[in-house]
Amino acid sequence: MGDMVRVLVTGAGGFIGHHLVSFLRAQGYWVRGVDLKRPEFCASEANEFELLDLRKWQDCLRATAGIDEVYALAADMGGMGFISCNHAQILHNNSLINLHCIEAARQNHVNRYLYTSSACVYPEYRQTETNCAPLKEEDAYPAAPQDAYGWEKLVSERLCIHYRQDYGLETRIVRFHNIFGPLGTWQGGREKAPAALCRKIAAARLEGLKQIEIWGDGEQTRSFCYIDDCVVGLHKLMRSDYCEPLNLGQDRMVSINQLADMIANIAGVQVNRTHVPGPQGVRGRNSDNTRLKAVLRWEPQISLEEGLRRTYLWIAKQVMELASEYSFGVATFPLRTGNKEP
Ligand code: NAD
Repeated sequence: MGDMVRVLVTGAGGFIGHHLVSFLRAQGYWVRGVDLKRPEFCASEANEFELLDLRKWQDCLRATAGIDEVYALAADMGGMGFISCNHAQILHNNSLINLHCIEAARQNHVNRYLYTSSACVYPEYRQTETNCAPLKEEDAYPAAPQDAYGWEKLVSERLCIHYRQDYGLETRIVRFHNIFGPLGTWQGGREKAPAALCRKIAAARLEGLKQIEIWGDGEQTRSFCYIDDCVVGLHKLMRSDYCEPLNLGQDRMVSINQLADMIANIAGVQVNRTHVPGPQGVRGRNSDNTRLKAVLRWEPQISLEEGLRRTYLWIAKQVMELASEYSFGVATFPLRTGNKEP
């Protein structure tokens, strides 16, 4: 191990955490991954992977022992369908994880601690129009996040700021705007819009059907950032001396309808959209990347089209494999509906 920097990635069995572990290993770090579960789709490249429950104090102490830097990604989370229906569970679990993790990091003399917050901290009143102004970091206040998920993220941001001020722990805070890519949840209820739409379109294509379901009118807008850009940005922020919250996302806003059309185009199919009732989150959201560019001298590089192409190919393969398990009993093939959107 020698002089290698020892890094802990919490949530290493999840989507971003798994990709981050691979990226950090390639950069030469020694990495411990911690999660309730192992990565679903391929083995972790972490030097050490421990199954721990970070809601528990003793598990947090064990996770952070002998560690120089923490990337804190563990959270009970999912797409809009999950976030809008599980407020108490999310607030309870994520509060425990973050309160215990940062205190354990302090007691174990960790040098740097990067917390992964979310665009969900931004107030609902700034996101009422589809064509809303991009969100600057200072727009988070006066605070009024839409869901318990966003409130908890905001409080944990404050926790990081105060741990730096009061205890000298070097904290970093990132606010992700819809990260997507291969090896992420694509079915089951916690998936987000890009994955859900890729799955529905791949399933419709396989079944020769021309219809997919969209929650609401599909005019709600978001920006989407590809996973490879996300992990590069995370590492750059950790290495920077910037300690205030920073957006990390793309600043190209598209509607859910446009996103569906882009994926259908990649899949080479034409699908009609059936609009059904369902949680949609805020009406519009985009990232203002002015500070990101100033602080990191960098911005996400991978286009939405290219990111969607890579994601669609991976999800279409998962759908094919699952369909073959159903022995192509397409009449009961369940993947085209059962949607979860952001
Ligand atoms: P994910 O759900 O794929 O990963 C989170 C991981 O945390 C999961 O593997 C889960 O098992 C683990 N976890 C949950 N409770 C735990 C516990 N008690 N102990 C140990 N591990 C536990 O989510 P993700 O998309 O990889 O998100 C990573 C982080 O980024 C999260 O904090 C999330 O809130 C934040 N974030 C993600 C996005 C996005 O677009 N993906 C957007 C905003 C913020």
